[in-house]
Amino acid sequence: MSNNSAYLFAPPEVNSVGIRGESKRFPVRRIYCVGRNYAEHTREMGHDPDRELPFFFNKNPDNLVLDNGNFPYPSMTKDVHHEIEMVVAIGTGGVDIPMDKALDHVYGYALGLDMTRRDLQGEAKKTGRPWEIGKAFEHCAPMGEIVPAASIGHLNKGAIWLKVNGTVRQQSDLSQLIWNVPEIIAHLSAIFELKAGDLIMTGTPAGVAAVKPGDVMEGFCEGLGTITTKVV
Ligand code: MN
Repeated sequence: MSNNSAYLFAPPEVNSVGIRGESKRFPVRRIYCVGRNYAEHTREMGHDPDRELPFFFNKNPDNLVLDNGNFPYPSMTKDVHHEIEMVVAIGTGGVDIPMDKALDHVYGYALGLDMTRRDLQGEAKKTGRPWEIGKAFEHCAPMGEIVPAASIGHLNKGAIWLKVNGTVRQQSDLSQLIWNVPEIIAHLSAIFELKAGDLIMTGTPAGVAAVKPGDVMEGFCEGLGTITTKVV
């Protein structure tokens, strides 16, 4: 409905991500995140990477930081970690999507940061509380432009890394994902109804660590290019 007078106050803006080579933007509906999807990272977090079913948590669409914008150091924490991740942009929704049809639902791919208040997430894990306080806070989802699969194909291998102030902190390859993109989509669409506009952050490689104000994070994924985010 375009008639704003129908609402008590102006409705929130649509959060949208730019698309490489397109004047139109990608409107975001939900942001799903996969936990522990690289074996080395699973071990560094104190868990056994033997194949357990993938698990998911959410960030909010209005947590996005776009166009290489800054990441303000958040409140309530002394331990904010970077997690560089490849992101899947869903173009066509569905439920119970079979693995062999899953890639038909992918519009494109992007590079994102799952910024995490690790100390608060750790408390939540210990006390059996939800993860939002550690994972779904303001500005916690810096993201680069979406690259259409129509132009680069589907990503199942290729380097992914993150440098902080020029030093490599995280480095792996998309082929190391425990659950690949079709498997993620099949599992997620059995739990929730996927719709166009959903983003899925596919998990982070080993090497997650703290940042401080002034740090510059530079992420890279083959086929997607780089994302640069300064902590302020
Ligand atoms: Mn993550």
